[in-house]
Amino acid sequence: MPHAADRQAPQAWSTEAVLALFELPFPDLIHRAQQVHRRHFRADGIQLSSLLSIKTGGCPEDCGYCSQSARHDGGVAAQRLMPVEEVVAAARAARDAGAQRFCMGAAWRSPKPRDMPAVLEMVRAVKALGMETCMTLGMLDDEQAGALGEAGLDYYNHNLDTSPEFYGRVIGTRSYADRLDTLARVRAAGVKVCCGGIVGMGESRRDRAALIAQLAGMDPQPESVPINHLIPVPGTPLADAPPLDPFEFVRTIAAARIAMPRSAVRLSAGRQAMPDSLQALCFLAGANSLFYGDTLLTAGNPEAEADRQLLRRLGMRATDGADANGPPARDKETHAGTRAGMRTIRIQDTRRAAGGRA
Ligand code: SF4
Repeated sequence: MPHAADRQAPQAWSTEAVLALFELPFPDLIHRAQQVHRRHFRADGIQLSSLLSIKTGGCPEDCGYCSQSARHDGGVAAQRLMPVEEVVAAARAARDAGAQRFCMGAAWRSPKPRDMPAVLEMVRAVKALGMETCMTLGMLDDEQAGALGEAGLDYYNHNLDTSPEFYGRVIGTRSYADRLDTLARVRAAGVKVCCGGIVGMGESRRDRAALIAQLAGMDPQPESVPINHLIPVPGTPLADAPPLDPFEFVRTIAAARIAMPRSAVRLSAGRQAMPDSLQALCFLAGANSLFYGDTLLTAGNPEAEADRQLLRRLGMRATDGADANGPPARDKETHAGTRAGMRTIRIQDTRRAAGGRA
């Protein structure tokens, strides 16, 4: 029988309700997050996604944290859309290195009509490798969302970034409502939603709670929820954002886990600056997905070998997307008779396999 907390309708998570989670004593919050996590996921499973920037820099948007905005001096040179063959080669290398999902990101306000044929071809070709596909291309209209759905795109990433109240301090060129409109189009096209945010931008605890409440209030909730930690980039407006208490980051992960019990909660940007002990706390708080590989769009990420070692030291293992989102461990053990029923993914050296590209 579902736990009372899991039965709450999405709209039950008001900002106040999430704020109450943040204000629990840390051990109580982690305990509660673990209870929720274990009802829906194996506690030792991690879903691995690899991310490739298919079109880097020169973005007309003004997101205050982003080195790819043409309005900031973030030191990222603008490049053209990568050829389809290069994207497919990078996806193949990521797959061979153990990634289950391949996320392709383009620094656009929205795709231009001339870009869509190549983008759709990337989706089809990466799917043909047996990988899940995810794209983040900016705002979409109905036709673009429909075309991506027809091409078989599994996930579309479009983050809310922060609370509605703090949003205007970070981004001026697209509104919160614009983001929600694109997310609705993605849903209508039958594509799963990857939607999360960024913490450590100088927002308050209430803003963090409001972000989680916004995400949890989506019906259905996002299948994938990336929680990013700001990487302050010199030359961007948020270069001097005040540092965030690391435990507050863990609390954000735990609140996301409790408010979105069936979503994959992904530890995303900012992991390179986190010690292993902090990442382990995030797993205890309910994070069960990682970006895997040496580069996140344009920012650094822990080396693949360091990730492999960390998972080994913690007795954790990479699972494919189906397992990460599958039934709770107890059910799986009943059916399979053993915890080894989970499919384990072989992980190789991403850098070698990807020739340094991924
Ligand atoms: S976050 Fe995306 S939309 Fe915003 S400036 Fe960077 S690339 Fe452009």
